Amino acid sequence: KKLRVAVCGLGRYANLVREGLAASQYCELAGIVTGTPAKATQWKTDYQLPAKNVYSYQNFDTILANKSIDLVYITLPNALHKEFTLRAAKAGKHVIVEKPMALTEQDCQDMVEACKKHSVQLAVGYRLHYEPHHIELKRLGQEKVLGQVRLIEASLGYRLEGISPDDWHLKKALAGGGPLMNLGVYCVQSSRYVLGEEPIAVTAQYGPVTMPNLFKEVEESISWQLYFPSGAVCTSTTSSNSNIDRFFAAADNGSFELSPALSYGPFKGKSSQGAFNFPTINQQAAQLDGIAPYILENKPLPAHISGEEGRKDLRVLDGIYKAANTGQKVTLV
Ligand code: NAD
Repeated sequence: KKLRVAVCGLGRYANLVREGLAASQYCELAGIVTGTPAKATQWKTDYQLPAKNVYSYQNFDTILANKSIDLVYITLPNALHKEFTLRAAKAGKHVIVEKPMALTEQDCQDMVEACKKHSVQLAVGYRLHYEPHHIELKRLGQEKVLGQVRLIEASLGYRLEGISPDDWHLKKALAGGGPLMNLGVYCVQSSRYVLGEEPIAVTAQYGPVTMPNLFKEVEESISWQLYFPSGAVCTSTTSSNSNIDRFFAAADNGSFELSPALSYGPFKGKSSQGAFNFPTINQQAAQLDGIAPYILENKPLPAHISGEEGRKDLRVLDGIYKAANTGQKVTLV
């Protein structure tokens, strides 16, 4: 039996999830949720979906009665993640929600509790947890293969050229913030899973606004420093005006790095022991196949991919904004 997935919000990333579903071993595309009738018709025809598995945002709650859908994969704008997770949970469907899990730690907490209450599982779409270069970063860091990691530099940015000023990524109400919400979350994630620790304090600084026609509501760039209990520090920048995609860890007996590091790849990396030689994989298929067996076998998801993991990231993102807004070092409790 395969896990039967309905994709909710048919934009750019939904298409990558669809390709991942097609390449996956344990999942299949079973339905869609969309606000655009033309997309409903197109997906229904192209992927042979039964009409009863096609939902609008309005009638989505009737998915409760549909026994041929097991899980809803939410690829909506960030601000809608919470609402649709709560609705899917209430309808008895498992959920994979895209990053950032929600706009605040409190929203994440509410989502975790709702899924628990309705006995459904909640995963966050952290594709890099199943990517071989990142599995190696985690091993090198957490097992201290090259000694204790002292300093991480992890940054991700894309220059947003040609974006419409009306795009939801630039609207605070829909995105929750700028590149920190959309890209910076990967820097926070990677520093947490390479160190295997939770940061205890953060300092942060907004960068200058160089494209004032676009960045009226959300930050154009932001830099931050996370302080970990071991004494390790992670310094990061995420930006909508610079193209940057790299990860570097300095440990006591060597270093390891990736660049490109946090995008879709192909990734390239090395440690002081030599170049990495891992395959380029379909990240979405690997993530889906990493998650699906737990749900199919009714076993709890591993912590690293659960809603609780998403909540921990939002705790840090909340702290980064607080530090940048106040200019103060913020203690994360
Ligand atoms: P997108 O703009 O391409 O797609 C968003 C979809 O939501 C569109 O189909 C749009 O019609 C629909 N939508 C519904 N209500 C909307 C509203 N009120 N305003 C705007 N659009 C609305 O965005 P995307 O790049 O596909 O991102 C979707 C989600 O996926 C985001 O949370 C993003 O962070 C995440 N994402 C994850 C990855 C990853 O690598 N894991 C990559 C890209 C995006």
